[in-house]
Amino acid sequence: RAYFDWNATASLRPEARGAMLAALDLTGAASSVHSEGRAARALVEKARAHVAALVGGEAKSVIFTSGATEANMLALTPHLVVLGKQVTCDRLIVSAIEHASVLSGGRFPVEAVERLPVTAEGVVDLVALRGLLTKGGRPLVSVMHANNETGVIQPIAEIAALVHEAGGILHVDAVQTAGRIDCDIATLGTDMLTISSHKIGGPQGAGALVLNGPQPATPLIKGGGQERGFRAGTENVAAIAGFGAAAAAATAGYQVDAQRMSALRDRFETQLTRATPDAVVFGAEVPRLPNTTYFSAAGLKAETAVISFDLNGVAVSSGSACSSGKVTQSHVLTAMAADPALAAGALRVSIGWTTTEADVEILLNAWKKVSASLTKRHAHAA
Ligand code: PMP
Repeated sequence: RAYFDWNATASLRPEARGAMLAALDLTGAASSVHSEGRAARALVEKARAHVAALVGGEAKSVIFTSGATEANMLALTPHLVVLGKQVTCDRLIVSAIEHASVLSGGRFPVEAVERLPVTAEGVVDLVALRGLLTKGGRPLVSVMHANNETGVIQPIAEIAALVHEAGGILHVDAVQTAGRIDCDIATLGTDMLTISSHKIGGPQGAGALVLNGPQPATPLIKGGGQERGFRAGTENVAAIAGFGAAAAAATAGYQVDAQRMSALRDRFETQLTRATPDAVVFGAEVPRLPNTTYFSAAGLKAETAVISFDLNGVAVSSGSACSSGKVTQSHVLTAMAADPALAAGALRVSIGWTTTEADVEILLNAWKKVSASLTKRHAHAA
């Protein structure tokens, strides 16, 4: 089989597995003062340093959570502390292509959430952002570094400058960029940054919010005061240790991996458009992640195509979601004003650091079968 759904989740890195197995054999809780507790604490703090290094942050600014969803919840609060002073953000501006955990508005009341449109290529509309920022109040703005469906990279440094000029605060969901492209918190200029363990080769169920000055004023989970009081509960030491080891491996290898991945991705796109000249790659004209292709073709039905790919030994994902028999179009393609007929066929292929040329061959062979049945159906219908 060939796995092409790395934007959904990556395989566990051997370094992460090793760190987790070692952590599972410890007995102490990280808050205990005895030797066993201090051994657990040491693993958590080592992981914190590795996660901080991945995004150029300070170790003490890393708040471990149960994942990126929870980190987004922690960040998206109207009540923040900036330079030691409590401030209130009365508006939350989120881009229309955010992950569901950001679109939902976090801890803001739903009526305070405003949507920032994107262009047809899936890039945040900076003119619209300027317009929203002149409306007054202190906004918290949340824009993802790269979109999980299209892979399109957003101009975060420019957005940060605009938001700060307007007295606002910026949060960036960097789940899809950390460990894939440069993702330095200072260069991006964001105040808060979310990352997830399982997209960089760590276990599922761990993530972090990295602070760069401003911080939430209220805990997400109240209790024993762990994670500087932001997120109470005995630390999941094994998951955090795995996350840290994955972060260290990603920091060391991401540039080489990105080159390999973009070569494989380009090879796939070249062969795809050769085999299917009417194939459309979404966001092809703007900067994208090195590992993602989001495409469609006339007559393609994403839901059935994903199943045919699967039967042909290939895991890909579709942009649309099917619930109770009804297929809903991807909110990302809706925001990009994509042709609904094309959006119904949107498929995402995402590559990772262990993807090989042989995997891409398997993918291309599967595409031949999927697209052949497409042409046959077309012929019948005509
Ligand atoms: N943000 C983005 C952009 C994502 O792609 C995902 C994972 N699909 C999340 C947030 C949620 O991450 P987690 O699974 O760690 O909660």
